[in-house]
Amino acid sequence: MSITIVSIYPALLGTYGDAGNVLALRHRAGLHGLTTEVVNVAAGEPIPESGDLYVLGGGEDSAQTAAARGIRADGSLRAAFDRGAALLAVCAGYQLLGEYFPDATGKSTEGLGFIDIRTDRLPRRAVGELAADPLLPGLPRLTGYENHGGATHRGAGVAPLAEVVAGVGNGDGTEGATTGHVIGTYLHGPGIGRNP
Ligand code: GLN
Repeated sequence: MSITIVSIYPALLGTYGDAGNVLALRHRAGLHGLTTEVVNVAAGEPIPESGDLYVLGGGEDSAQTAAARGIRADGSLRAAFDRGAALLAVCAGYQLLGEYFPDATGKSTEGLGFIDIRTDRLPRRAVGELAADPLLPGLPRLTGYENHGGATHRGAGVAPLAEVVAGVGNGDGTEGATTGHVIGTYLHGPGIGRNP
């Protein structure tokens, strides 16, 4: 069996080694006997609609705004999301899945609206190590590096990924969000490499 991993705009969204998530997923898929095809989609290129797993990384505020605009105009990630494809989204990638996030001037910018989250500004930028205990049973503590100015608020239907033990995460004692086939997180490291 083969799976297709689509890395969305790795040059725009790929701070702190987030591209390593794709390498780690590919390696782990191999351990499970799965072959993988990796499609790196540069900004401006069409996003394939038939991927199994889409990966978005972190980015600067302006890159994040450009990425949101490109993904919305393309439309294929929305189609993939609607049919239940898996999404792993880190930091800027996580924030842009929601209703809005701050742009480089602090002004609220329209997100993709895939999941019911909203991001505004933290009182102080979160920079440093982040540790959080997952709410899914049986998983060990998650660790990573965070560097973001956004505070992310979840709507009623969106569960947090974890509870913060050290660091900031979403800014309310929780870290990340999950809706079943979507995982959003502030964990860099890369997150999958640090938390196999
Ligand atoms: N630009 C966003 C923020 O500062 C995300 C940062 C990142 O992806 N590291 O909140």
